[in-house]
Amino acid sequence: MTENPNGLEETIEIAKKIFAKTAQSKIILTPEAYQLWFEYFAGSIDTLKAEMDEILASGVFFSESITGKLHTKYFNNQEESAILDKVHLETQKIIKDIFSELLTTSQLASNHGMKLDDYVEKLNSATHLSEVQGVVKGIVQETANMAESSRALQDKLKEATTQTEKLKHQLKKTEEEANQDGLTGLNNRKAFDKKIKELVDEFKRDGSFFSVIILDIDFFKKFNDTYGHQTGDYVLQLLGGILQKNLKGKDFPARYGGEEFIVLLPNTTLDQAIIVAEQLRIQISVKKPTDPKTGKPIEKITVSLGVSIINRQDTVETVVGKADKALYLAKDSGRNNVKSEKDLA
Ligand code: GH3
Ligand code: MG
Ligand code: MG
Repeated sequence: MTENPNGLEETIEIAKKIFAKTAQSKIILTPEAYQLWFEYFAGSIDTLKAEMDEILASGVFFSESITGKLHTKYFNNQEESAILDKVHLETQKIIKDIFSELLTTSQLASNHGMKLDDYVEKLNSATHLSEVQGVVKGIVQETANMAESSRALQDKLKEATTQTEKLKHQLKKTEEEANQDGLTGLNNRKAFDKKIKELVDEFKRDGSFFSVIILDIDFFKKFNDTYGHQTGDYVLQLLGGILQKNLKGKDFPARYGGEEFIVLLPNTTLDQAIIVAEQLRIQISVKKPTDPKTGKPIEKITVSLGVSIINRQDTVETVVGKADKALYLAKDSGRNNVKSEKDLA
């Protein structure tokens, strides 16, 4: 092989070209082929390059027999020992620079490192060209294996990553769905139970208080009887939207039961919560809904609301119970209004 005047970098570049070219054209990379293609890319023997270009242009497959003939024609007149020296040198460079880089970056380093060490040792003790050729053959094979398995590994990793992402996404969605009311998109009863327990625990621990608003649609049974259950469902969705829109930050609205909603308001005094409840009542009562089935206006919806605040004696049940009692008082007082635990005797 021609001594490379541009040194290591060019040798590596040429080696890369050889691997790319032979892989692309499915040329079997024997040591002879390697030498041939090395000279081709180094461009040091004009007549060889021209002859190879001609073969490439003709579209004829670069078979082992073509390689053999060219190799004999261009290299066999050289002294074996001279070739040996050069091949020896170039191969060592390649081992050192290309394969060691590949190996250190490859996750397969531990599997392949051993074998390559063997090759280096064999190469250093090689005294005949045939031995060096054997080493090159081994390295070529090893690299092909490594490229294959690391590609397979990369594909597997990629696939695994995609799968994990998908699973993570699904899990998040499932979790969200598990806490969400299907009709209104608000938190469901399960999510509410968990949240209020947390808030009561927090209150017992560090005194962070919260208020509760319970909201119940007025005469909803009659509404369903008049417009049908589907339109009733639509009204529930409408109310869900109003709650969502009018409650911000840490406020936690949930669908408590059929046509009952409940809101937890952390860090909110009873008076502040009464104001929020009053705003919700107004927002709902001014809404002019249309029947999605007929597109015609339907009667206005009103709600009654009960408000409470956590105190030291309260449990989850009693703080909700106070709001519920206030709600009943609101119903008894004519509906479409707000009552709080202050109004309870
Ligand atoms: P009040 O003013 O005293 O609350 O009267 P109401 O008719 O609203 O009260 P009641 O508890 O007697 O009836 C609640 C009705 O709410 C019963 C049912 O028809 C309706 N409802 C409950 N859940 C749903 C639901 O998911 N969809 C629909 N469309 N209606 C529901
Ligand atoms: Mg009810
Ligand atoms: Mg009702």
